[in-house]
Amino acid sequence: MADVRLSGVEKRYGDTRALGPVDLHVDDGEFFTLVGPSGCGKTTTLRLVAGFEAPTAGEVTIGERSMASVPPEKRDVGVVPQQYALFPHMSVRENVRYPLKFRDPPGGDADARVDDLLDLVGLTGLGDRDPEDLSGGQRQRVALARALAPSPELLLLDEPMSALDARLRERLRREVRRIQRELGVTTVYVTHDQEEALAVSDRVAVMNDGRVEQVGTPREVYDAPATRFTAAFVGENNLFDGEVVERVAGESVPAADGGQPDSLARVRLDRLDATVTVTHDAAVGAQAAFSVRPEAFTLAAGGGEHGNTFTGQVRETEFLGTATRLTVDCGDVSLVVRLAADAIPSGTVTVEFEPDAARPL
Ligand code: ATP
Repeated sequence: MADVRLSGVEKRYGDTRALGPVDLHVDDGEFFTLVGPSGCGKTTTLRLVAGFEAPTAGEVTIGERSMASVPPEKRDVGVVPQQYALFPHMSVRENVRYPLKFRDPPGGDADARVDDLLDLVGLTGLGDRDPEDLSGGQRQRVALARALAPSPELLLLDEPMSALDARLRERLRREVRRIQRELGVTTVYVTHDQEEALAVSDRVAVMNDGRVEQVGTPREVYDAPATRFTAAFVGENNLFDGEVVERVAGESVPAADGGQPDSLARVRLDRLDATVTVTHDAAVGAQAAFSVRPEAFTLAAGGGEHGNTFTGQVRETEFLGTATRLTVDCGDVSLVVRLAADAIPSGTVTVEFEPDAARPL
Protein backbone atom coordinates (compact mmCIF):
# COMPACT_ATOMS: atom_id res chain seq x y z
CA MET A 1 0.00 0.00 0.00
CA ALA A 2 1.29 3.45 -0.88
CA ASP A 3 -1.41 5.84 0.08
CA VAL A 4 -0.29 9.29 1.19
CA ARG A 5 -1.77 11.24 4.06
CA LEU A 6 -1.14 14.81 5.16
CA SER A 7 -2.64 15.53 8.57
CA GLY A 8 -2.67 19.13 9.79
CA VAL A 9 0.44 19.85 7.75
CA GLU A 10 1.84 23.37 7.89
CA LYS A 11 4.97 24.91 6.46
CA ARG A 12 6.27 28.29 7.56
CA TYR A 13 9.35 30.18 6.49
CA GLY A 14 9.96 32.60 9.34
CA ASP A 15 6.76 34.59 9.64
CA THR A 16 5.49 33.50 6.23
CA ARG A 17 3.02 30.69 6.08
CA ALA A 18 3.68 28.91 2.80
CA LEU A 19 1.20 26.14 3.45
CA GLY A 20 -1.53 24.95 5.65
CA PRO A 21 -2.87 23.62 7.74
CA VAL A 22 -3.66 21.03 5.08
CA ASP A 23 -5.36 17.64 5.31
CA LEU A 24 -5.19 15.42 2.26
CA HIS A 25 -5.47 11.73 1.51
CA VAL A 26 -4.21 10.22 -1.75
CA ASP A 27 -5.41 6.66 -2.31
CA ASP A 28 -3.17 3.80 -3.29
CA GLY A 29 -2.77 3.71 -7.09
CA GLU A 30 -4.50 7.03 -7.57
CA PHE A 31 -3.53 9.82 -9.98
CA PHE A 32 -3.97 12.82 -7.71
CA THR A 33 -3.34 16.38 -8.87
CA LEU A 34 -2.60 19.54 -6.91
CA VAL A 35 -3.83 22.46 -8.98
CA GLY A 36 -3.86 26.17 -8.21
CA PRO A 37 -2.32 29.50 -9.16
CA SER A 38 1.34 30.38 -8.73
CA GLY A 39 2.37 30.60 -5.08
CA CYS A 40 -0.59 28.63 -3.68
CA GLY A 41 1.66 25.97 -2.11
CA LYS A 42 1.65 23.11 -4.62
CA THR A 43 5.41 22.68 -4.83
CA THR A 44 5.76 23.04 -1.08
CA THR A 45 3.26 20.21 -0.60
CA LEU A 46 5.17 18.00 -3.02
CA ARG A 47 8.50 18.77 -1.36
CA LEU A 48 7.08 17.85 2.03
CA VAL A 49 5.93 14.49 0.65
CA ALA A 50 9.31 13.91 -1.02
CA GLY A 51 11.09 14.83 2.20
CA PHE A 52 13.07 17.76 0.75
CA GLU A 53 11.40 19.91 3.41
CA ALA A 54 10.13 19.10 6.87
CA PRO A 55 6.69 20.32 7.99
CA THR A 56 6.55 23.01 10.66
CA ALA A 57 3.52 21.20 12.09
CA GLY A 58 1.51 18.09 11.29
CA GLU A 59 2.47 14.78 9.82
CA VAL A 60 3.05 13.14 6.44
CA THR A 61 2.53 9.40 6.16
CA ILE A 62 3.23 7.16 3.17
CA GLY A 63 1.72 3.68 3.29
CA GLU A 64 0.59 4.47 6.84
CA ARG A 65 4.16 4.96 7.96
CA SER A 66 5.12 8.31 9.47
CA MET A 67 7.77 10.09 7.43
CA ALA A 68 8.79 12.35 10.33
CA SER A 69 12.29 10.90 10.59
CA VAL A 70 12.66 9.37 7.12
CA PRO A 71 15.10 11.23 4.81
CA PRO A 72 14.23 11.62 1.09
CA GLU A 73 16.53 8.83 -0.09
CA LYS A 74 14.86 6.39 2.28
CA ARG A 75 11.38 7.23 1.00
CA ASP A 76 10.29 4.98 -1.82
CA VAL A 77 9.55 7.96 -4.05
CA GLY A 78 10.43 8.93 -7.64
CA VAL A 79 10.49 12.65 -8.42
CA VAL A 80 10.19 14.30 -11.83
CA PRO A 81 11.18 17.96 -11.44
CA GLN A 82 10.04 20.90 -13.53
CA GLN A 83 13.23 21.23 -15.55
CA TYR A 84 14.23 17.60 -16.26
CA ALA A 85 17.51 17.99 -14.28
CA LEU A 86 19.26 15.33 -16.37
CA PHE A 87 22.97 14.77 -15.95
CA PRO A 88 24.43 16.41 -19.08
CA HIS A 89 27.64 14.39 -19.14
CA MET A 90 25.78 11.08 -19.13
CA SER A 91 23.94 9.36 -21.97
CA VAL A 92 20.21 8.77 -21.83
CA ARG A 93 20.87 5.19 -20.75
CA GLU A 94 23.25 6.26 -17.97
CA ASN A 95 20.76 8.82 -16.74
CA VAL A 96 18.00 6.24 -16.45
CA ARG A 97 20.40 3.71 -14.90
CA TYR A 98 21.71 6.15 -12.33
CA PRO A 99 19.22 5.48 -9.47
CA LEU A 100 19.90 1.76 -9.81
CA LYS A 101 23.38 2.31 -8.39
CA PHE A 102 21.76 2.83 -5.03
CA ARG A 103 18.98 0.36 -5.28
CA ASP A 104 18.72 -3.05 -6.92
CA PRO A 105 16.48 -2.99 -9.96
CA PRO A 106 13.28 -4.97 -9.88
CA GLY A 107 14.22 -8.25 -11.59
CA GLY A 108 17.90 -7.85 -10.77
CA ASP A 109 19.20 -6.92 -14.23
CA ALA A 110 19.84 -3.18 -14.51
CA ASP A 111 20.45 -3.14 -18.28
CA ALA A 112 17.26 -5.03 -19.00
CA ARG A 113 15.39 -2.72 -16.67
CA VAL A 114 16.71 0.37 -18.50
CA ASP A 115 15.68 -1.07 -21.87
CA ASP A 116 12.19 -1.81 -20.56
CA LEU A 117 11.88 1.73 -19.23
CA LEU A 118 13.04 3.30 -22.49
CA ASP A 119 10.39 1.23 -24.29
CA LEU A 120 7.77 2.26 -21.75
CA VAL A 121 8.37 5.99 -22.24
CA GLY A 122 8.69 5.74 -26.03
CA LEU A 123 12.46 6.23 -26.31
CA THR A 124 13.39 2.84 -27.75
CA GLY A 125 16.78 3.04 -29.48
CA LEU A 126 17.71 6.46 -28.08
CA GLY A 127 19.70 5.17 -25.08
CA ASP A 128 23.09 6.20 -26.43
CA ARG A 129 22.13 9.80 -27.18
CA ASP A 130 23.28 12.70 -25.04
CA PRO A 131 20.48 14.61 -23.33
CA GLU A 132 21.44 17.76 -25.21
CA ASP A 133 20.62 16.00 -28.49
CA LEU A 134 17.02 15.43 -27.41
CA SER A 135 13.92 17.58 -27.73
CA GLY A 136 12.26 18.99 -24.62
CA GLY A 137 9.58 16.30 -24.72
CA GLN A 138 12.16 13.53 -25.04
CA ARG A 139 14.15 14.93 -22.12
CA GLN A 140 11.05 14.88 -19.98
CA ARG A 141 10.51 11.24 -20.94
CA VAL A 142 14.05 10.46 -19.80
CA ALA A 143 13.36 12.21 -16.49
CA LEU A 144 10.21 10.12 -16.10
CA ALA A 145 12.05 6.87 -16.90
CA ARG A 146 14.77 7.78 -14.41
CA ALA A 147 12.21 8.48 -11.67
CA LEU A 148 10.52 5.15 -12.35
CA ALA A 149 13.74 3.09 -12.54
CA PRO A 150 13.79 1.82 -8.94
CA SER A 151 10.06 1.03 -9.21
CA PRO A 152 9.01 3.53 -6.53
CA GLU A 153 5.72 3.11 -4.73
CA LEU A 154 5.03 6.80 -5.18
CA LEU A 155 5.66 9.09 -8.16
CA LEU A 156 5.78 12.87 -7.72
CA LEU A 157 5.70 15.18 -10.74
CA ASP A 158 6.17 18.94 -10.38
CA GLU A 159 4.81 20.81 -13.42
CA PRO A 160 6.57 18.34 -15.72
CA MET A 161 5.10 19.84 -18.89
CA SER A 162 5.64 23.52 -18.21
CA ALA A 163 8.61 23.91 -20.57
CA LEU A 164 6.82 22.26 -23.50
CA ASP A 165 4.53 23.70 -26.15
CA ALA A 166 0.78 23.16 -25.87
CA ARG A 167 0.42 20.36 -28.38
CA LEU A 168 3.33 18.37 -26.96
CA ARG A 169 2.01 18.91 -23.44
CA GLU A 170 -1.29 17.34 -24.39
CA ARG A 171 0.39 14.36 -26.00
CA LEU A 172 2.78 13.77 -23.16
CA ARG A 173 0.16 14.10 -20.46
CA ARG A 174 -1.81 11.28 -22.11
CA GLU A 175 1.32 9.17 -22.10
CA VAL A 176 2.05 9.92 -18.46
CA ARG A 177 -1.50 8.85 -17.68
CA ARG A 178 -1.13 5.64 -19.72
CA ILE A 179 2.15 4.76 -18.01
CA GLN A 180 0.70 5.53 -14.58
CA ARG A 181 -2.26 3.22 -15.28
CA GLU A 182 0.00 0.50 -16.61
CA LEU A 183 2.20 0.56 -13.52
CA GLY A 184 -0.54 1.37 -11.01
CA VAL A 185 1.88 3.66 -9.18
CA THR A 186 0.37 6.19 -6.77
CA THR A 187 1.01 9.57 -8.37
CA VAL A 188 0.89 13.14 -7.13
CA TYR A 189 1.01 15.63 -9.97
CA VAL A 190 1.44 19.40 -9.68
CA THR A 191 0.14 21.83 -12.28
CA HIS A 192 -1.23 25.37 -12.46
CA ASP A 193 -3.17 24.36 -15.58
CA GLN A 194 -6.73 23.49 -14.57
CA GLU A 195 -7.52 22.00 -17.94
CA GLU A 196 -4.57 19.62 -17.64
CA ALA A 197 -5.65 18.72 -14.11
CA LEU A 198 -9.18 17.85 -15.24
CA ALA A 199 -7.88 15.82 -18.17
CA VAL A 200 -5.47 13.49 -16.39
CA SER A 201 -6.58 13.04 -12.79
CA ASP A 202 -8.61 10.56 -10.80
CA ARG A 203 -9.06 13.34 -8.26
CA VAL A 204 -7.80 16.88 -7.87
CA ALA A 205 -7.16 19.16 -4.93
CA VAL A 206 -7.81 22.79 -5.82
CA MET A 207 -5.39 24.94 -3.81
CA ASN A 208 -5.42 28.65 -3.06
CA ASP A 209 -3.23 30.71 -0.77
CA GLY A 210 -1.72 27.73 1.07
CA ARG A 211 -5.05 25.98 1.61
CA VAL A 212 -7.08 23.26 -0.02
CA GLU A 213 -10.32 24.70 -1.37
CA GLN A 214 -11.86 21.47 -2.61
CA VAL A 215 -10.99 17.85 -3.30
CA GLY A 216 -12.97 15.82 -5.79
CA THR A 217 -13.08 14.09 -9.13
CA PRO A 218 -12.62 16.38 -12.13
CA ARG A 219 -16.37 16.23 -12.75
CA GLU A 220 -17.21 17.08 -9.16
CA VAL A 221 -15.03 20.17 -9.01
CA TYR A 222 -16.25 21.29 -12.42
CA ASP A 223 -19.96 20.58 -11.96
CA ALA A 224 -20.25 21.44 -8.28
CA PRO A 225 -17.56 23.92 -7.23
CA ALA A 226 -17.76 24.30 -3.46
CA THR A 227 -16.24 27.76 -3.23
CA ARG A 228 -16.11 30.99 -5.18
CA PHE A 229 -12.43 30.40 -5.80
CA THR A 230 -12.97 26.94 -7.32
CA ALA A 231 -15.90 28.19 -9.39
CA ALA A 232 -13.74 30.92 -10.90
CA PHE A 233 -10.49 28.95 -11.22
CA VAL A 234 -11.72 25.67 -12.70
CA GLY A 235 -13.05 26.47 -16.14
CA GLU A 236 -14.84 29.73 -16.75
CA ASN A 237 -17.80 30.85 -14.71
CA ASN A 238 -20.21 33.67 -14.14
CA LEU A 239 -20.56 34.54 -10.44
CA PHE A 240 -23.71 36.16 -9.09
CA ASP A 241 -24.64 37.63 -5.71
CA GLY A 242 -28.03 38.67 -4.50
CA GLU A 243 -30.68 38.45 -1.84
CA VAL A 244 -33.39 35.83 -1.56
CA VAL A 245 -36.75 37.58 -1.88
CA GLU A 246 -38.96 34.51 -2.01
CA ARG A 247 -38.89 30.74 -1.60
CA VAL A 248 -40.62 29.10 -4.51
CA ALA A 249 -43.21 26.86 -2.91
CA GLY A 250 -44.05 23.50 -4.37
CA GLU A 251 -41.46 23.68 -7.08
CA SER A 252 -38.25 21.73 -7.13
CA VAL A 253 -35.88 20.21 -9.63
CA PRO A 254 -34.03 16.87 -9.45
CA ALA A 255 -30.69 17.30 -7.69
CA ALA A 256 -27.59 17.11 -9.89
CA ASP A 257 -26.16 14.38 -7.64
CA GLY A 258 -29.33 12.30 -7.73
CA GLY A 259 -30.11 13.01 -4.04
CA GLN A 260 -32.90 15.09 -2.57
CA PRO A 261 -34.46 17.51 -5.05
CA ASP A 262 -33.03 21.01 -4.80
CA SER A 263 -35.46 23.71 -3.82
CA LEU A 264 -35.83 26.94 -5.67
CA ALA A 265 -35.46 30.52 -4.56
CA ARG A 266 -36.15 33.86 -6.16
CA VAL A 267 -32.98 35.96 -5.90
CA ARG A 268 -32.76 39.68 -6.54
CA LEU A 269 -29.33 40.19 -8.01
CA ASP A 270 -26.84 42.83 -6.96
CA ARG A 271 -25.47 44.97 -9.79
CA LEU A 272 -28.00 43.62 -12.30
CA ASP A 273 -31.54 44.80 -12.58
CA ALA A 274 -33.00 41.29 -12.42
CA THR A 275 -34.68 38.77 -10.16
CA VAL A 276 -34.03 35.16 -11.11
CA THR A 277 -35.15 31.71 -10.00
CA VAL A 278 -32.31 29.40 -8.99
CA THR A 279 -31.61 26.27 -6.97
CA HIS A 280 -30.59 27.61 -3.58
CA ASP A 281 -31.29 26.77 0.06
CA ALA A 282 -30.83 30.24 1.54
CA ALA A 283 -33.78 31.71 3.49
CA VAL A 284 -35.74 34.79 2.53
CA GLY A 285 -33.69 37.88 3.35
CA ALA A 286 -30.38 35.98 3.28
CA GLN A 287 -27.56 36.57 0.81
CA ALA A 288 -27.24 34.01 -1.97
CA ALA A 289 -24.23 33.48 -4.21
CA PHE A 290 -24.19 31.13 -7.17
CA SER A 291 -22.35 30.43 -10.40
CA VAL A 292 -23.54 29.70 -13.92
CA ARG A 293 -21.28 28.15 -16.56
CA PRO A 294 -20.93 29.99 -19.89
CA GLU A 295 -22.24 26.93 -21.73
CA ALA A 296 -25.39 26.85 -19.57
CA PHE A 297 -26.72 29.97 -21.31
CA THR A 298 -28.85 29.78 -24.42
CA LEU A 299 -30.27 32.48 -26.63
CA ALA A 300 -33.67 33.35 -25.19
CA ALA A 301 -36.54 32.36 -27.41
CA GLY A 302 -39.23 34.25 -25.55
CA GLY A 303 -39.55 35.74 -22.07
CA GLY A 304 -38.17 32.56 -20.50
CA GLU A 305 -40.31 30.41 -18.21
CA HIS A 306 -38.47 31.49 -15.07
CA GLY A 307 -37.57 34.98 -16.14
CA ASN A 308 -33.88 34.07 -15.97
CA THR A 309 -32.99 36.33 -18.83
CA PHE A 310 -30.37 39.00 -19.33
CA THR A 311 -30.25 41.43 -22.18
CA GLY A 312 -26.99 43.08 -23.15
CA GLN A 313 -24.60 44.10 -25.87
CA VAL A 314 -22.19 41.63 -27.43
CA ARG A 315 -18.78 43.23 -26.88
CA GLU A 316 -16.48 40.39 -27.98
CA THR A 317 -16.91 37.29 -30.08
CA GLU A 318 -14.32 34.53 -30.13
CA PHE A 319 -14.66 31.62 -32.50
CA LEU A 320 -13.35 28.49 -30.72
CA GLY A 321 -14.10 25.86 -33.35
CA THR A 322 -16.63 23.80 -31.42
CA ALA A 323 -18.27 26.84 -29.82
CA THR A 324 -18.33 30.60 -29.86
CA ARG A 325 -17.47 32.55 -26.72
CA LEU A 326 -19.28 35.83 -26.25
CA THR A 327 -18.70 38.63 -23.81
CA VAL A 328 -22.03 40.29 -23.18
CA ASP A 329 -22.15 43.62 -21.35
CA CYS A 330 -25.25 43.97 -19.21
CA GLY A 331 -24.78 47.36 -17.58
CA ASP A 332 -21.86 47.07 -15.12
CA VAL A 333 -21.71 43.31 -15.40
CA SER A 334 -20.09 41.32 -18.19
CA LEU A 335 -21.36 37.80 -18.79
CA VAL A 336 -19.36 35.10 -20.52
CA VAL A 337 -21.56 32.95 -22.73
CA ARG A 338 -20.70 29.96 -24.89
CA LEU A 339 -22.97 29.05 -27.74
CA ALA A 340 -22.86 26.42 -30.45
CA ALA A 341 -20.57 27.61 -33.21
CA ASP A 342 -23.35 28.18 -35.71
CA ALA A 343 -25.29 30.60 -33.49
CA ILE A 344 -23.30 33.81 -33.58
CA PRO A 345 -25.39 36.83 -32.67
CA SER A 346 -24.17 40.41 -32.61
CA GLY A 347 -25.58 43.67 -31.28
CA THR A 348 -28.21 43.28 -28.57
CA VAL A 349 -28.87 39.75 -27.31
CA THR A 350 -31.04 38.15 -24.66
CA VAL A 351 -29.68 35.02 -23.01
CA GLU A 352 -31.27 32.77 -20.43
CA PHE A 353 -30.39 29.88 -18.11
CA GLU A 354 -32.37 27.17 -16.34
CA PRO A 355 -32.73 27.36 -12.54
CA ASP A 356 -30.82 24.11 -12.01
CA ALA A 357 -27.83 25.43 -13.99
CA ALA A 358 -27.10 27.67 -11.00
CA ARG A 359 -24.59 26.20 -8.52
CA PRO A 360 -24.97 27.58 -5.01
CA LEU A 361 -21.70 28.85 -3.54
P1 ATP B 1 4.49 27.93 -8.43
O1 ATP B 1 3.43 27.36 -9.32
O2 ATP B 1 4.81 29.35 -8.74
O3 ATP B 1 5.67 27.06 -8.27
P2 ATP B 1 3.43 26.93 -5.94
O4 ATP B 1 1.94 26.81 -5.87
O5 ATP B 1 4.18 25.70 -6.21
O6 ATP B 1 3.81 28.05 -6.96
P3 ATP B 1 5.07 27.21 -3.62
O7 ATP B 1 6.32 27.22 -4.41
O8 ATP B 1 4.74 26.00 -2.86
O9 ATP B 1 3.85 27.58 -4.56
O10 ATP B 1 5.10 28.46 -2.64
C1 ATP B 1 4.08 28.73 -1.69
C2 ATP B 1 4.42 29.99 -0.93
O11 ATP B 1 5.55 29.78 -0.10
C3 ATP B 1 4.77 31.16 -1.82
O12 ATP B 1 4.20 32.32 -1.28
C4 ATP B 1 6.28 31.20 -1.76
O13 ATP B 1 6.74 32.50 -1.96
C5 ATP B 1 6.57 30.69 -0.36
N1 ATP B 1 7.87 29.99 -0.29
C6 ATP B 1 8.19 28.85 -0.92
N2 ATP B 1 9.45 28.47 -0.63
C7 ATP B 1 9.94 29.41 0.21
C8 ATP B 1 11.20 29.60 0.87
N3 ATP B 1 12.21 28.75 0.73
N4 ATP B 1 11.34 30.70 1.65
C9 ATP B 1 10.31 31.57 1.81
N5 ATP B 1 9.12 31.45 1.23
C10 ATP B 1 8.92 30.39 0.44
